[in-house]
Amino acid sequence: MKKILMTLVVSIVFLGLAHGASAEGQHKRLAGKDRFEVAANVAKEGWPSGANIVFLANYDAFADALSATPLAYKMNAPILLSRPTSLGDTTKNKLRELSPSKVFVVGGTASISNNVVNEVKSLGISSVERISGKDRFEVSAEIAKRMPSSSKAVVANGLNFPDALAIAPHASRNGMPILLTRDNELPAPTVSSLLNRKPSQVIVMGGTASVSNGVYADLSAYSPLRIGGSDRYEVAANIIKKLNLSTSTGFLATGQTFADALTGSVLAAKKNAPVLLTRNSSLPEATKEITGQKRMTNFVVLGGTASVSNSVVKAVAGPLAGEMIVVDPGHGGSDPGASGNGVVEKEVNLDVSKRVKGKLDSNGAYTVMTRETDTYPTLSERAALANKQGADAFISIHANAYSNSDVQGTETFYDDTYAGQLSKELATYINNELVEKLDTNDRGVKNVGFKVIKEATMPSVLVELAFITNEEDAAKLRSDYYREQAAIAISNGVLTFFR
Ligand SMILES: [Zn+2]
Repeated sequence: MKKILMTLVVSIVFLGLAHGASAEGQHKRLAGKDRFEVAANVAKEGWPSGANIVFLANYDAFADALSATPLAYKMNAPILLSRPTSLGDTTKNKLRELSPSKVFVVGGTASISNNVVNEVKSLGISSVERISGKDRFEVSAEIAKRMPSSSKAVVANGLNFPDALAIAPHASRNGMPILLTRDNELPAPTVSSLLNRKPSQVIVMGGTASVSNGVYADLSAYSPLRIGGSDRYEVAANIIKKLNLSTSTGFLATGQTFADALTGSVLAAKKNAPVLLTRNSSLPEATKEITGQKRMTNFVVLGGTASVSNSVVKAVAGPLAGEMIVVDPGHGGSDPGASGNGVVEKEVNLDVSKRVKGKLDSNGAYTVMTRETDTYPTLSERAALANKQGADAFISIHANAYSNSDVQGTETFYDDTYAGQLSKELATYINNELVEKLDTNDRGVKNVGFKVIKEATMPSVLVELAFITNEEDAAKLRSDYYREQAAIAISNGVLTFFR
């Protein structure tokens, strides 16, 4: 018993050392049955022993609240939500718990009525200050007036929420007000706020559809820096890229509604974490790319599963989070590889590789393919791609051929030039899974210095799924079912390796 335990401890320590930087993803979900409860739970997380000041914003209209985060952060105040004419039980109870001495109401009486103000006062909070204006642009200028001078300011589209909320944590930590604009016209309150504050630089959020080139030109006195992107997800990712933000923790919020990103933004600022946006049920490419490139493993998820599904969370914080894996579909372009029995190798390799990428990515890995179409990178280019990116594993996918059509089965190769022992382990896990899932003859794991795996410096393997030249094997290589099984097998092998 003791011996078994020791072996276990030793192997855990060994794996820990061997995989060094590898860290399984972690996440904490701040959920709730509705946005009021999400806001209350964010406040509980960030202000466990109460808050001296609380901000109150409309639950359904982002217009007035879009600029509130930097001021709320400065005052160390959580943002709670209210209906226009009543606080609602969740917010009321949270206000009692937080027990602030002052509440800021963001927006005019149409956003939050005086009845709500009276409800707040009836809780024993005598100081209530309303920040309002005739429109959202004036509200943003009014909020800016309450902030000390700063060398930078943000200008974001006021008619949509994602750009302003994605920059909110960074703006907050750096004391920058978020001023609002129309896409093609700089509103008067924003113009005068800038004239008063005289920032040396303005960060302009979004592409030309959000802030036109005309508005950008009007900002030329403030050395504007545009952070654009093809959609809201890419804009949020580009904030991290362009400003090189700390990514030790990332906040993940739906980009489809504003409330969770708004109420979560002050907490994100407190934790020096950027806000990443996602679709409810699928992780956008740009979000995947930035979390993968930055090797992010630690996330706070805002909202319940209806806002950010569990599969989206797994795709950033799953067991392979922080791992970068290069999948290499063998051959391609002018080099078809082997062919026979209705199978062309380069096509099988590419199809299985794409399926492998899908499975690895859905478990949190950041997977890059050496080719995504019918092209031919050289063998050295394939290995160099993995080396340059500092990949954690390299998997080259092939199908076999031999002059004797009776020869069949699965084999996996490794090379011992670099990371030999780990390559052998990875090859063994993958080969065992493949033999089982493909129900093929086990030809084993072999040390052969094929160029791609010899030049790749990380754990690297070359998989030969089955023999194109064998009737029975070829039938499997043609089959959609077995291609899927092959991808599951390779993905399982990788999961076991990194576990
Ligand atoms: Zn091949």
